[in-house]
Amino acid sequence: MAHAPEHVEQYVCVNCQVTYAGSVTSEGGQRHFHPPDDCPVCGDPDFVQLESYVHRALEQST
Ligand SMILES: [Zn+2]
Repeated sequence: MAHAPEHVEQYVCVNCQVTYAGSVTSEGGQRHFHPPDDCPVCGDPDFVQLESYVHRALEQST
């Protein structure tokens, strides 16, 4: 099995909590990740990075 050293950024829809892998573009050897333009499920354009979402959820649960 090949390991996957590349970290793929994931984004969470703040409205319905569906998670998407970010789309990737490459500029000058640097990879950039982008959330979807809007959520295919609910149409909401607001996404947060998965890591930010986890921190937010933990803060709200305490
Ligand atoms: Zn959504």
